[in-house]
Order: sequence, then C-alpha cells, then structure tokens
Amino acid sequence: MAKVEFNETLCKGCGLCVNACPKKILQIGKRINAMGYNVAECVNQAACIGCAFCGIMCPDCVITVSKEVKQ
Ligand code: SF4
Ligand code: SF4
Repeated sequence: MAKVEFNETLCKGCGLCVNACPKKILQIGKRINAMGYNVAECVNQAACIGCAFCGIMCPDCVITVSKEVKQ
C-alpha cells in the first residue's frame, strides 16, 4: 500500500493534484492553512496506488508519496 502525505503549510489549494490523480481520491478540503488556502487532502488512503502523479504535478512540492515495502 502506498501513502500520500501533504505538507499543508505550503499548499495553495490550486487543485492540480486533484485532477492528476487517476484514482480520484484527492480533494480540496475544508481545512485552511496559515496562508488562508483550503488545502488538499486524501479521502481514501487505502486506494492510493503510489503512482506519484500528484507529487509530480504539484508546483509547490507539497506532496510526498511513499510506497511501503513488503517484508
Ligand atoms: S500517488 Fe497516485 S493514486 Fe496516490 S494520491 Fe497520488 S495521484 Fe492519487
Ligand atoms: S497541487 Fe500542490 S499546491 Fe496544488 S492543491 Fe495539490 S498539494 Fe496543494
């Protein structure tokens, strides 16, 4: 399973990651960061395939995608 994490303080709520996700599991949520932007969030972590399209698309390097290595 892959994990997607957001450095919320840097997010500008542009929505590029939301559109880039092939699984449609990202959204601009209700939470607002210190800059006053609604921040992106993952609504279904379990469905993430770790493709990292979201991270590649983000202009502000907000997103980190990690793939859990099976032992
Ligand atoms: S890594 Fe891929 S599947 Fe996971 S949230 Fe990002 S774009 Fe969506
Ligand atoms: S692409 Fe980056 S800055 Fe834009 S909403 Fe997604 S995480 Fe935030």
